[in-house]
Amino acid sequence: VLSITDLHKVFGARPVLRGVSLDVAEHEVVALIGSSGSGKSTLLRCVNLLEPLDDGTIHLDGEDITDPRVNPDKVRQRIGIVFQAFNLFPHMSVLDNVTLAPRRVHGLPAAEARDKAMALLDRVGLASRAGDYPDRLSGGQQQRVAIVRALVNAPRLLLLDEVTSALDPELVGEVLSLIRDLKADGMTMLLATHEMGFARQVADRVAFLDGGVLVEQGPPAQVLGEPREPRTRQFLQRII
Ligand code: ATP
Ligand code: MG
Repeated sequence: VLSITDLHKVFGARPVLRGVSLDVAEHEVVALIGSSGSGKSTLLRCVNLLEPLDDGTIHLDGEDITDPRVNPDKVRQRIGIVFQAFNLFPHMSVLDNVTLAPRRVHGLPAAEARDKAMALLDRVGLASRAGDYPDRLSGGQQQRVAIVRALVNAPRLLLLDEVTSALDPELVGEVLSLIRDLKADGMTMLLATHEMGFARQVADRVAFLDGGVLVEQGPPAQVLGEPREPRTRQFLQRII
C-alpha cells in the first residue's frame, strides 16, 4: 500500500529524516518507535503531504504521491491521520466534525456523509453523542471521534501519531481497543507510539527511528525482545 524510499527532510539546517525507506503492506500494522525528536511525527506528516520532502519518494498504491502534479487533497482522501491532540473543532458538533471534510473537501452529499458518519460513530459507541460539542466528551471519546473522522473517507491507510499520549491512563484502553478492532478489520496502519506493550501486541512490524535514521525493523518480538542494533538496545533500556 505504502512505499517510502530514501526520504530526506531538513528543517532549516537540521536534517530530521536522513534517508528513510519503509514499506507498509496491505492489512499490515507498522509501529514507529524512537526517542523524542527522532522524526516519527515528521515522517507521518510527510506521508500525508503536510510537510514537503527534500528528497525521496512516497508511493501509495503504486502512485508517486510526491509528484508535484498530484493533488494533495486527493491523496489525503486516501490517507487518514490522527494526532496526539485530538484537534476537533470546538464550535462544531461531533457529527459536523466528522462530516466536514467529506462534504467540504470531497463534495459528498450531506445525507450520504451523515449516514457514513453515523454508522462509524455507532461502531465506536458514540452515536448518541453525535449532537454534542467535543468539550462534553471525555478525552478518550474525543480521540475516538477523531479516529472516526479519519475513517469516514474509507482511507487506504491510517496514520496515528501518539494517539494515546494526551489521555489520562484510564482512557488509554478504549482507544487502544478501537485500534485493535481496526486491525481485526484489516485496516492498514502506520502508527507512532511510546507504548511498547501496545506495539508488541498490535504491530506486525516495529521500526526504530533514531536521529532520523531507520536503524532497525522487524517483528515486535525481535526488535523489542532481541534487538540486533546497539542503538535499539540502548533506547529500549532507557525507557524501561
Ligand atoms: P516525539 O516523540 O517527541 O513526538 P518525534 O519523533 O515525533 O518526537 P518530530 O516531531 O518528528 O519527532 O521532530 C523531529 C525533529 O524535527 C525535532 O528535532 C524537531 O525539533 C524538529 N522539527 C519538527 N517540526 C519542525 C518544524 N516545523 N520546524 C523546525 N523543526 C521541526
Ligand atoms: Mg511526535
